[in-house]
Amino acid sequence: MRRGFKAEAERLATQIRDDVGISPHEPLDHVGAQLRMADELTSLTRLQELEALQPGAFSACTFDFGDRKIIVVSPLATGERQRSDASHEASHLLLKHTVKEVERVGDLSFFTCDPDEEQEANWLAGCLLLPRDLILWSLRRGLDAAAIAAANNVSLQMANFRLRATGAERQAATWRR
Ligand SMILES: [Zn+2]
Repeated sequence: MRRGFKAEAERLATQIRDDVGISPHEPLDHVGAQLRMADELTSLTRLQELEALQPGAFSACTFDFGDRKIIVVSPLATGERQRSDASHEASHLLLKHTVKEVERVGDLSFFTCDPDEEQEANWLAGCLLLPRDLILWSLRRGLDAAAIAAANNVSLQMANFRLRATGAERQAATWRR
């Protein structure tokens, strides 16, 4: 990842909550985009057929119509996974990544980005779901990784990842000393 990106992502994640008028520690639902389930665009049967053909082939995608942005997630995924996928897609929008190519699986089209942009979107997605301030606020209240995951509807894996990535765990340990 390019120099300074991680700090920029944390700033962006803080700014977004400010922009939509929620506290730094509140869960974020969506970022200026509408969320739709893929079975509103195609049939659930077709999604299930695709999943059987190539597991995980479809997780989420974004349609950018200028001022109208729509993020589509899979109804077959868990709520946690949908949030994570939606956050990833929102990150592409926030970072103004452009669609590079279209992949086709069966008769469905997929937009893919370059690997650097995927890495950036993954990183920012984590920051959006669990910004550093939110994690510190939670740790101060005695919440552990599992409680943080549950409160924000993210996976335990994501909570643990962000606890390490932000260094918040280390910082909380110094308060207890
Ligand atoms: Zn992506």
